[in-house]
Amino acid sequence: MVFTCRQCGKCCMYLGDYIVIERQTGPFRFECESVSTGTPFTAEVDEDKREIFQDHSFPEQHPGACRFLRPDGDLVRCTIHRDSPTQCKFYRCVVMRVADHDGKPLGYVTGTLALHADDPALRSVWEVIERKRPKPDEEAEPWIAAFLREKGYLVE
Ligand code: SF4
Ligand code: SF4
Repeated sequence: MVFTCRQCGKCCMYLGDYIVIERQTGPFRFECESVSTGTPFTAEVDEDKREIFQDHSFPEQHPGACRFLRPDGDLVRCTIHRDSPTQCKFYRCVVMRVADHDGKPLGYVTGTLALHADDPALRSVWEVIERKRPKPDEEAEPWIAAFLREKGYLVE
C-alpha cells in the first residue's frame, strides 16, 4: 500500500515552532533548524514554488504554520520539498483505515505504523502483527495490510 499525500498541509499548520529559519543566505536560501531533533539544515525553495513562496500573506495569517507552507490552488504545499528535513519527508498521516467485514470502521494506522483503535479483537490481532511484522516500515506496510485482510478485515 503506497501512501499518497493529498498535500492538504494540515500536518504543517502547527510546526512553525519546530521548523525554524535561523537566517536567510540568498534570495531563496535559508539556514534552518529542525528543533525537535536539533538538526540544522539548509533549504532552498523549490524552483517551481518560488512564485507562491513570495506571497507572505499565508504565514502572516497563520503564525503557527511552518514558514515554508503556502497555498497553491486547492492544495497547501511545502515549498522546500527537495530540502525538507528527514522527518518531514517520511511523515505520513494515515496509511491504512481498518474496518470489519461489513465495512464498520474500527481504527486506523498512522504513518509511524501505530494502530489507533479501541476494538479489543483488532488490538489483539495487532499484538501478533507487532511481533511478526518485518522491521523496515516499507516492507511492513504491505505485509500488515495483507495480514489484516487474511484475518477478514477490510483495509483501505
Ligand atoms: S501528510 Fe497527511 S496531513 Fe500532511 S499534507 Fe499529506 S495528507 Fe495532509
Ligand atoms: S518543511 Fe515542509 S513538510 Fe516540513 S513542516 Fe515545513 S512545510 Fe511541512
